[in-house]
Amino acid sequence: MQLGAMQDWSLRVTRFIDHAAREHGGREIVSRWADGSESRTTWAGIRHDAMRMAQKLAKLGIKPGDRVATLAMNHHRHLVTWYGAVGVGGVLHTINPRLFDEQLDYIANHAEDRVMLFDAAFAPIVERMKPRWKTIEHYVCFDSSDPAEHFEDWIATEDGKGEWADGDERDPCMLCYTSGTTGNPKGVLYEHRSTVLHAMTAMTPQVFGMDCRTVALPIVPMFHAASWGLPWAGAAAGAKFVYSAVNEASVLCELMEREKVTTSAGVPTVWLSLLQHIDAQGKDIPADLHTVVCGGSAMPRAMIQRFMKAGRRVAHAWGMTETSPIGTTGTETSNWDELSFDEQVTIKAMQGRVPFGVELRCVDLDDYSKVLPRDGKSSGALQVRGPWVVGRYFKAENPATDADNWFDTGDVAVLHPDGTLQLTDRTKDVIKSGGEWISSVELENAAIGFPGVAEAAAIGVYHPRWDERPLLVVVKKPGADVCPDALREYLGTHVAKWWLPDAVAFVDEIPHTGTGKISKKDLRDQFRDWQWSA
Ligand code: ADP
Repeated sequence: MQLGAMQDWSLRVTRFIDHAAREHGGREIVSRWADGSESRTTWAGIRHDAMRMAQKLAKLGIKPGDRVATLAMNHHRHLVTWYGAVGVGGVLHTINPRLFDEQLDYIANHAEDRVMLFDAAFAPIVERMKPRWKTIEHYVCFDSSDPAEHFEDWIATEDGKGEWADGDERDPCMLCYTSGTTGNPKGVLYEHRSTVLHAMTAMTPQVFGMDCRTVALPIVPMFHAASWGLPWAGAAAGAKFVYSAVNEASVLCELMEREKVTTSAGVPTVWLSLLQHIDAQGKDIPADLHTVVCGGSAMPRAMIQRFMKAGRRVAHAWGMTETSPIGTTGTETSNWDELSFDEQVTIKAMQGRVPFGVELRCVDLDDYSKVLPRDGKSSGALQVRGPWVVGRYFKAENPATDADNWFDTGDVAVLHPDGTLQLTDRTKDVIKSGGEWISSVELENAAIGFPGVAEAAAIGVYHPRWDERPLLVVVKKPGADVCPDALREYLGTHVAKWWLPDAVAFVDEIPHTGTGKISKKDLRDQFRDWQWSA
């Protein structure tokens, strides 16, 4: 059969910056640096600088497909680099500066990065890692006090009058590594096409709801999970961006108020510190902030209630590096107005539904060939597929999916009849007691609601009779007293009796991963020799 007769217009991410510069060229990009200084540019300015950077990279011999790494917080020069690296046909590799040295060593060498652009704040990491990073030939500092190695001077030799590298829409454009809580980190190689489709979805009302009136302050770092696609989606929408190189609640709050931020996205811990700051200062939630996107871990019910009571739209999102990262968002259902406030909060506390382009299913944890019904009860291994879901990890020999393209997320979930996703655990963290599964996450979420509990983590510990039983590890709020029996009694009103932790252990600190999540692996190691009392 003959093909259709429409135009060839490859889905390359440089389309975004061309569009933003042409249609929204005057829209501002504000950066607040760690030292308190600020700079302002526009989408037209970002494009000009990105083109100069692409020219510079070409002169250095960077070829299509070569990796250009960053080790940086959120600011406009980092944004320039996103477009400059892909503009020369390269692959942008954002590195999380909070990773441990072994991981930093592994991923930069595995990626074979050729150029590294970094914040002065991370110069100590660069100095320490330089001897171990074998493939990096050029180092450029975004904000060096020495003009000879400053980013602005580095691109100043170019005139910005070049052209973007062209190529296939399935060429790679970005590389992100998972945090590697088990084994070595794995690279996810996004394509131009997958990134464009993902960004177009990110703009829709169901996700970030962005247009040219949006003022976005992405709290989610540009080094984590592609900053949830915001640098691409924001350009497509013509949004104004407000970036902060520090994540202090006072700074974020001040920027939100002054720049009239409408939309922001971050993990629950950051939102929590923002709300604590607001309370401590006797302030209100910033007046213009109407869309609160929260994901990366479960958004606590109390936080959802707080934002919703204040009339703000909450989008509780689930995703992972392997899904670019948008998987689902908890947005309003078609019968929203008929629901009570409590019912609405319950829906928002789940992980929401898929946008067009993402498919989900749950399979039996003991038999992956058995697909579970969407009945709101059957809990199983969550699998996902779609055009922006990983097919094969970078340099891996085998696909990351089964023959039908299903990627196993490592999450355990329930799917409701209307498609709402409810995450209950990670496959590695569920507690198996007497052959039945206990959700560690549900125990933790319940425990957090008990007065005096600052943080809680439930892990399965070997038990001679039940195989495993839950142990609840708790960090108390400063000065608080928590009675284990009262806590267990409280938990009994939230979860089944046989789920109740057999013991509560108090600690000063719970170990976290480089991306700020509780490290269950380290916690299990810590309590490996735990003895249940008779
Ligand atoms: P990693 O932490 O492995 O680097 P990601 O940052 O990509 O990876 O995190 C993905 C994981 O984070 C998901 O598989 C899921 O377990 C968890 N997660 C993401 N969003 C949510 C959410 N809204 N609620 C609960 N867990 C979430």
